[in-house]
Amino acid sequence: MTESHQHQVQQLADRALKLAAALDAAALVLDDAPDEHTRNADTDLHMARQEAMDTARHLLGVTALWRTGDASTTWPPAASTEQHLRDLRQYALSLTGDLRDLAAALKRATDRNQQAGWWVAEAAATSREISTRLLRTLRLLQRISSVPADACRMDRPACPIHGATICTSGGETWCQTPGCPYWWPYDRWDTPCPEPVTHQVTDATGTIRRVCSGHAVAARQTGTTITRLNPAQP
Ligand SMILES: [Zn+2]
Ligand SMILES: [Zn+2]
Repeated sequence: MTESHQHQVQQLADRALKLAAALDAAALVLDDAPDEHTRNADTDLHMARQEAMDTARHLLGVTALWRTGDASTTWPPAASTEQHLRDLRQYALSLTGDLRDLAAALKRATDRNQQAGWWVAEAAATSREISTRLLRTLRLLQRISSVPADACRMDRPACPIHGATICTSGGETWCQTPGCPYWWPYDRWDTPCPEPVTHQVTDATGTIRRVCSGHAVAARQTGTTITRLNPAQP
């Protein structure tokens, strides 16, 4: 590997480490959010941070990584957390593109460089996951913020017809009742219930809550007092 290639590898590893530090900081920002769903939206950011560290490890090896593991977390200020995550995604995509370019250049060269090319290609594949995770986090934050303030907002999902019959797996959510058409292409446990309020339920302790039709069905199954609200009522 030429000195110029070595310099490029070091610079790309520095970028991966800078990204890891920024992802860690972004996860901490979500951890401070007032609502639980947003606090829980940091899972992919923690995984992405690990992938950024792994990207650098592919390039530098473990011992070199220890020496350079205190990357700066300084980042240009963004208008919002979402904008910051979009900026980090662009940074991750650019890092992946440059890693791929270097891998291709090395693979075209001599035998020893070809081996290095495979390691850099592995770093590119790992860093590609970071942008995917950032996109998933952005979509999740968008789903959380798009739930209307006056919606049902119960923590658990409910089928609008059958109530507490919801199952999630592999990023999908569906009602387990045979023949029920309700299915969503994302995990509904990640957001407050977005359905409109139609009923008022009063539990055994006298606590009153306004919920959607699905959560009214679920509450009926637990012996709660349920009143249908006037549809004209806000
Ligand atoms: Zn159903
Ligand atoms: Zn609901």
